[in-house]
Order: sequence, then C-alpha cells, then structure tokens
Amino acid sequence: MKRLPAWAKKPLGPAKPIHEMKAVLRRRGLHTVCESARCPNIGECFSKPTATFMILGDVCTRTCGFCSVNKRARPLEVDPNEPSNIAVTAKELGLSHVVITSVTRDDLKDGGAKQFALTIRAIKDTISGILVEVLTPDFRGDDEALNIVLNARPDILNHNLETVPSLYPIVRPQADYRRSLGVLKKAKAKGVMAKSGIMAGLGETMEEVKEVLRDLKGSGCDAVTIGQYLRPTRESLEVKEYITPQVFMDYERYGKEIGIKYVYSGTFVRSSYNAEKLISNS
Ligand code: SF4
Repeated sequence: MKRLPAWAKKPLGPAKPIHEMKAVLRRRGLHTVCESARCPNIGECFSKPTATFMILGDVCTRTCGFCSVNKRARPLEVDPNEPSNIAVTAKELGLSHVVITSVTRDDLKDGGAKQFALTIRAIKDTISGILVEVLTPDFRGDDEALNIVLNARPDILNHNLETVPSLYPIVRPQADYRRSLGVLKKAKAKGVMAKSGIMAGLGETMEEVKEVLRDLKGSGCDAVTIGQYLRPTRESLEVKEYITPQVFMDYERYGKEIGIKYVYSGTFVRSSYNAEKLISNS
C-alpha cells in the first residue's frame, strides 16, 4: 500500500459545525455525497456551511470501484418531499450556488431524471437568483431522460468522466467513456454550461489525462475538475500513485492552454469543491 504523503493529508476541522450540519440533514431525511463518499473536505465544507445534496436515496445500482456509496442494499423509494426539503434547507443555509447529485438509479425507468427536474424547480422557486448545478449519472444514454433534466434549466450540467478510458473496466465497469462525453455534448447543445471531472492516481498516465482534457474540450465542456483519488474504504480500489502538486498544476495549465474556460486541479479538488468559486474566480 502506498504511504500517504504529507500534502495528501487534510485535518477534519472542528466537530461542532459537522454535527450541526448532520443534524439539519437528518431532521429533513436528506443525504449528501459528502458523507456517503467520505469526502476529505467535509469539515471545511460543512463549516462554511455548504454541502452537495444526494437525491434518490443512498443506495446505488452500480458497482464503481472507487466509490464508497452503499451498493449492497435495495435502492430506496423515491421521496416526494425530497425536492422541497432540499430547497428549504438550501435557503436555510444561505446558499447562492447549490450542487445536486444522485446515486445512479438504473432500476428506475427515467433513471431518476424527473426527481432531478423537480428538485431544480423547487430550488429555483424558493431562492431567487440561486445557481443550480446538477451532477448527474449518464441515464444509460437515454436522451429523453437527460432532456427532462435539461428542460428544467439547471445552470450547470456536471457529469464526471471519473477516469481515463483505459481504466473504465475497473473504475466504472457499467459506464461508457464515449456515452459520458455524449452527455456533456448534449447539455452544451441545449445551451447549458457543461462541467466534468476526473480523479488522478488510479494508474493513468499524464498523456492519458491530457487526452481526456482534449476530448472534453472537443465535447464543448466549459469546466473541469481534477483531484487525487483517495481510497475511501478497504474494499475500494487502491491508490496507485499520489500525484504531486506540481503535476496537478501542469494539468490545470494544459487544460486552460487548450481552451477549457475553467480548470481546477489539485489534491483535494472534487467536482463540487468550491463550486461557486470555480465559476466566478477563474
Ligand atoms: S467537496 Fe463536495 S462532496 Fe466534498 S464535502 Fe465539499 S461539497 Fe461535499
């Protein structure tokens, strides 16, 4: 097993804001990817406070090797109160940019697209001027499902490629690299900002990462995040390499050089990390 270098260690931060955020979430029966994916930024984000809401339950129908979301139970019933509960919570937290993601629901006919649309509308109806970013699954390439989401007019459609194509069989076995690029292309064609992200340190080469960046540019992607893969559980894929801060800087520079508008690359960068700043500061 690789030793965790000093630059890849992040202190959790004070416990009080984390407990307070968790109490709000539990009271409303909400899930976050921050908790389910054991994100290293949870202390920082919950203290702000911000969080990435995860709709459609906390049980996933896919078996991606990097992800610690529960895959061993039956997916939950769709909660009709979830959209309004998220909207009210986002308002209470004073968010001006909210990120909504979901587990992948291949068991649902629309892949959960309707729940995304209802959530986008509930948030926009509750908080004027808020920016809504959705981080969606690929809906198995179903255009009708994707259009349900896009027609609800999210400000940003984020869909992560997660890794380079050669690693898909072990990292995202039920996904397809070209299909995922297609999701971004379709969002862009509908006039919605397209965003994506990958993890580094799973065994990819630098050239492969650059090729992904070129593919993203070719798909019309406006924003890209790149962060270090950190093994969330003992059952998850091992870290093959801790990428140095210099290499992350090189990726960011390369992405911008080839014309991607917003590129955010660093050890602790996640697709929703500092989401509001990525778009406003770059
Ligand atoms: S980076 Fe994203 S997933 Fe991680 S704690 Fe922050 S908001 Fe949650």
